[in-house]
Amino acid sequence: MIYWSPSECMDPEARLGYQSELLRKQVKYAYENVPMYKKKFDEKGLKPEDIKGLEDLKHVPFTVKDDFRENYPFGIFAVPMDRIVRFHASSGTTGKPVVVGYTENDLEMWAECMARTLAAGGVTKDDIVQVTYGYGLFTGGFGAHGGSQKIGSATIPMSSGNTKKQVMIMQDFGATALCCTPSYCLQIIETAASMGIDPKTLPVKKCFLGAEPWTEAMRKEIESRFDVKAYNIFGLTEVLGPGVSFDCKYQNGMHINEDFFYPEIIDPNTLEPLPDGEIGELVFTALTKEGVPVLRYRTKDITSIIKEPCPCGRTGRRMDRILGRSDDMLIIRGVNVFPNQIEEILINIEGVEPTYQIIIDRENSVSDNFEIMVEVSENVLTDEIKAMENLKNRILSEIHSVIGLHPKIRLVEPFTIERSAGKARRVIDKRELYTR
Ligand code: AMP
Ligand code: ZN
Repeated sequence: MIYWSPSECMDPEARLGYQSELLRKQVKYAYENVPMYKKKFDEKGLKPEDIKGLEDLKHVPFTVKDDFRENYPFGIFAVPMDRIVRFHASSGTTGKPVVVGYTENDLEMWAECMARTLAAGGVTKDDIVQVTYGYGLFTGGFGAHGGSQKIGSATIPMSSGNTKKQVMIMQDFGATALCCTPSYCLQIIETAASMGIDPKTLPVKKCFLGAEPWTEAMRKEIESRFDVKAYNIFGLTEVLGPGVSFDCKYQNGMHINEDFFYPEIIDPNTLEPLPDGEIGELVFTALTKEGVPVLRYRTKDITSIIKEPCPCGRTGRRMDRILGRSDDMLIIRGVNVFPNQIEEILINIEGVEPTYQIIIDRENSVSDNFEIMVEVSENVLTDEIKAMENLKNRILSEIHSVIGLHPKIRLVEPFTIERSAGKARRVIDKRELYTR
């Protein structure tokens, strides 16, 4: 089977009409059911009827991550709780996560999107699919699971972690497809090798990798060391989770599920829409979502829309790899981290100066080293070792409770961190993940 659904190859002209109709309905739905959207429209003097089709989308106010935070936990939900059947969440800009809720129809649409994603890489009901994205509030595990189950493949709900066991199960169960982050895929390859197993002899033939930035060089490395095809898949919690867009066998940009998500590229400074082909910030409008409708959600991901048709016959426009962020969000070991979250913690700890630097590096292109260098006041440094250790542990435990990661903490003297124009560089990311 080449496509999962005929609508993947819908005539582009016909699709525009269809999208316009959905947009009209969705704008009205969001306005009538979510006070936040009503307020945004009213403030602009805009009525839902003013949005007659895609040509009017540019007038619709944007939605951002902070809107979720300010309406935490359920303020953007458009349906009563008896219609919500699942929650997911992702880290936000503070300790509070971004919360989304799905109705039965939303879950059905999500499974459809993920079925298309897996089918595009050749997964059929004969496959055994190992889902190594985390199961939990994170969308990865359950998202991939829903698609695999819809196809009728035999699904192994491994979740992440315990890499040796991942390799053992993969070998013993005969997993033919693997869903995980690209960095974890490399870790599986390394671990197999360290167990004396040639990764090429493992049964996996196709990998569906996403949830974090990666490069063509990483794709080549995975494909050659693992003897697989590695497909890029994209998504985000606010819009859906995995399944927003996916690589086909040509691996030349990710087809967007345009019958559910209408993409725009905007200039992140002027916020004006840019034509296809130009690089800017990706914005999505979900055309059918019931639980949490999203209008013009600013992903902050930088990419472009590829307008040329794809030889596979799918007509959903493709998006290029993610080439950067228009904000300062980092994805470390698969977790979204904002430098501000760290700053907020540090300024509230006595003895710590407000100057810090986050250093991220990737060892053997596998796991992220995450270090925070923190300037501390002179008196702390002259104190006994024990006091320093206590301070370090306090910083570590507070950071862990907010972002769930264990960075290495290095306490240094005031003015150790280099300043330029009086400012310290907050982040040094040596991974270079936003390159082609
Ligand atoms: P989350 O909502 O926690 O799943 O994080 C979503 C974010 O992960 C996106 O906005 C992107 O920045 C990043 N992301 C997801 N998939 C990819 C991918 N295939 N390539 C690059 N970045 C990705
Ligand atoms: Zn294609």
